[in-house]
Amino acid sequence: MTTPEALAYVTKVLEQVDLYRHAASVVQYDMETVCPPKGMSRQGEVGAFLANQAFRLTKDDAFIEAAEALYSGRDGLNEFERALADKLHREYLRTRRMTAEDQHEQARVSNQAYVDWISAKEADNFSLFAHSLEEVRRVEMKSITLMDNASPIAYDNLLDTYERGMTSAELDRLFGACRERLVPLLRRIMASKKKIRRDFLTRPVNDRAQEAMARYLLTTIGFDFSRGALGTTEHPFTDGMGQFDERVTTNYDPKHFLTCLYSVIHEGGHALFDMNQPAENWKYYMTDVKTMGQHESVSRFYENRIGRSEAFIGLIYPKLRELFPELMADVSARELYEAVNYVEPSLIRTEADEFTYTFHIMIRYEIEKEIVRGNVSTADLPRLWNDTYEKYLGIRPSGDRDGILQDVHWTGGFGYFPTYALGNMYNAMYYNRMKEELDIDKAVSEGRFDLINGWMREHVFQKADRLAPRDWIRDITGRDLTPDDFLDYLEKKYTAIYELD
Ligand SMILES: [Zn+2]
Repeated sequence: MTTPEALAYVTKVLEQVDLYRHAASVVQYDMETVCPPKGMSRQGEVGAFLANQAFRLTKDDAFIEAAEALYSGRDGLNEFERALADKLHREYLRTRRMTAEDQHEQARVSNQAYVDWISAKEADNFSLFAHSLEEVRRVEMKSITLMDNASPIAYDNLLDTYERGMTSAELDRLFGACRERLVPLLRRIMASKKKIRRDFLTRPVNDRAQEAMARYLLTTIGFDFSRGALGTTEHPFTDGMGQFDERVTTNYDPKHFLTCLYSVIHEGGHALFDMNQPAENWKYYMTDVKTMGQHESVSRFYENRIGRSEAFIGLIYPKLRELFPELMADVSARELYEAVNYVEPSLIRTEADEFTYTFHIMIRYEIEKEIVRGNVSTADLPRLWNDTYEKYLGIRPSGDRDGILQDVHWTGGFGYFPTYALGNMYNAMYYNRMKEELDIDKAVSEGRFDLINGWMREHVFQKADRLAPRDWIRDITGRDLTPDDFLDYLEKKYTAIYELD
């Protein structure tokens, strides 16, 4: 088979794979937005079936032969084609011993875990989820035994599926540096006499006004509504269905408008990443190579570096006064800025402030490493969770809903959480690089997101699917991954807000 023939065959099959995956995404989106509780199990089976059909297509002998022929002829390919050949080769090595039945089992376990997690969370009772969690661990461990060149450190193999090339040894080093600087800084912040007003944050706001805010925010940061839609869910997420269809979701808590405000900017950031990738990525089915850490770096760039800056608060302040006249009547822009950066140890990760957020990740990282190692019995997990919260943040959950059951992630496996913290480290590094070329605060305060997004497109988005994170961050910044930029940023910002000397 010649290389051009191989490329033609591979892309023909990938087009079919894409159709099945698209349909599976629609089903998933339906489950998370409007599907009634009793319809969930069947809908989950439909999703698992579609995902399995896609998987089978890539396990077909003729496809594998063509993909490997493409890989052999990679030297004669253009940059995008070569990246596709590399990606298919990596996937082949990863899954060649995994059968369609193995894949189907994984999807089924994960869907059942999702259904059980919902019930357990509703009942505030971890034991209703315990069996499913053991099943998730079982299929995760099984998937490792099927990998080629698996690392002897089980957790590293799982981590690698979300953050290519990352290891627990490196994470231990990165999180160690975070712990060393953030723990004493949190203590100083907690001891500060600075008064930050927050009374207005819980004033009631109706859904309609919040939805108007959500649409305004998305439009402001450059989200294109002709290629994207906004829905509502319990757990906000973004699903890139295709080149012209980006779904983001949020929820409207009548007594907490900030939850909506920041979840919308966060998910909007994910959507901007997808909407602004090179058109060739779609042509070559290369839109899903970027890692979760790369994705989170972008969503958190918009949410925190931009969204929690004084410049951005100044920009949106007049609109918030217009949308929420009673709530905002006696609130200054400076008071709003301080309020959105208020630091307080809390139990719920998704509601955590920017500063304590990293602690929530370190806690999950520690616990899931123990789960994967098999060092802790499932029944003991809620206690381990609560103890670890007490150790890091000095607070203890009263139930499972506010504790171990709060996140959906473990229904799909382990190794995802660290990517959130990595995202903060990446974006702190490229923020500093961007600052050398662009007056970021000025651009933000003038609403010039064309400038911000243009820089992001050229430097951050462009090669995200073609370079492994390690090479990608070096390509953008000229430096290796370090937590220092992120820690320096937190220290400078919160020292100023809390008037620490
Ligand atoms: Zn995210």
